[in-house]
Amino acid sequence: MMENKEELARIITAENGKPLKEAQGEIVYSASFLEWFAEEARRIYGDVIPASAKDRRVLVLKQPVGVAAIITPWNFPSAMITRKVGAALAAGCTVVVKPAEDTPLSALALGELANQAGIPAGVYNVVPCSRQQTAAVGEVLCTDPLVSKISFTGSTATGKILLKHAAGTVKRVSMELGGHAPFIVFDSANVDRAVAGALASKFRNSGQTCVCTNRFLVQKGIHDEFVEKFAKAIEKELHVGNGFDAKTTQGPLINEKAVEKVEKHIKDAVSQGASIVTGGKRHSLGKNFFEPTLLTNVTTKMLCTQEETFGPLAPVIRFDTEAEAVAIANAANVGLAGYFYSQDPAQIWRVAEQMEVGMVGVNEGIISSVECPFGGVKESGLGREGSKYGIDEYLEIKYVCLGGL
Ligand code: NAP
Repeated sequence: MMENKEELARIITAENGKPLKEAQGEIVYSASFLEWFAEEARRIYGDVIPASAKDRRVLVLKQPVGVAAIITPWNFPSAMITRKVGAALAAGCTVVVKPAEDTPLSALALGELANQAGIPAGVYNVVPCSRQQTAAVGEVLCTDPLVSKISFTGSTATGKILLKHAAGTVKRVSMELGGHAPFIVFDSANVDRAVAGALASKFRNSGQTCVCTNRFLVQKGIHDEFVEKFAKAIEKELHVGNGFDAKTTQGPLINEKAVEKVEKHIKDAVSQGASIVTGGKRHSLGKNFFEPTLLTNVTTKMLCTQEETFGPLAPVIRFDTEAEAVAIANAANVGLAGYFYSQDPAQIWRVAEQMEVGMVGVNEGIISSVECPFGGVKESGLGREGSKYGIDEYLEIKYVCLGGL
């Protein structure tokens, strides 16, 4: 029996190591999607269209797409499920959830809550499976004709596999895939605010979120001041430790492969001339813990500026002009979130419009919330979640022509 929010948060911390405070935040975020879409269900309006002939009436109905298969990652084991399931249930779909192998318990706990809330049996279904079975289960979900919709959150590589499977029966798809978020600090920025935003955007969940900053671009006039203050903030405010310890802000990474990727990016950058300002190695606490790391003298030739690190690594590239920064920011095959700090109103409009991403934070490092449309462009995905748009992913539009009137 799930007693309270605290118990759900403890499950998340036990499953993926994130600090309990962050897990508590995730539970609130997770619940917000159920509340939001319960309300949105009351606003699935159709339309009456003026007909071109006197003896006709034209209607538009919105109907559920059907069974939705939902495949989710480990980094937000509760919220990534409710962001999809809330919209699907509100639209009238039943769901089959395949959670990540590392975090099945949150998905099952949501099942227990669904029972307690009186959701009929068979509406919210969970299929946990071992990693060995993942590809086979994924293929069944994406090819079975009974499934009408695939909604996936995870890596771009997996998303492409699922898209290929889904093509066979032309299923509706929503894809929330990887990011490579740029964080630009212009000379006009308030540096202290930029440092606070950088810390939050980079190190939340130990750098393991799809909207985490992956590369910092800092203009030459304030570069040294930003780096000095950012390093101080990292050393003072971040505490690596057990997620259940109240002091901890940085839990372990999800597994050793994740740690190896961070190490690989640092090694590659240093071998090409980058300097470690702080951090740079595994933490003494154990093999999955990594020190929050800041690198300078970073160039666009380095791996860490070309692909998602998904860990606590902050590489800083120095730039001269706005055009140069925008070009570097947009030179990516993905485009999920992007951030910049500036106090120049004309520059704010220009850069916000030019960034090739689905979500822009201007003078803000944390921008996800239930009422805002979440999603990316390019290879970061298809569709939007949350907000008034999220429910459309689970609805079909049907046009009805009443003739001979
Ligand atoms: P992943 O390897 O793609 O895994 C995500 C989910 O897909 C897991 O449930 C996984 O199951 C499953 N999966 C993997 N291969 C599959 C296959 N062949 N068929 C069916 N299912 C398959 O992603 P990850 O590395 O765990 O998660 C991190 C990635 O997710 C990052 O790239 C991050 O940017 C992205 N992400 C995006 C968003 C967004 O909203 N855009 C949000 C969070 C994360 P197993 O666990 O069993 O392998």
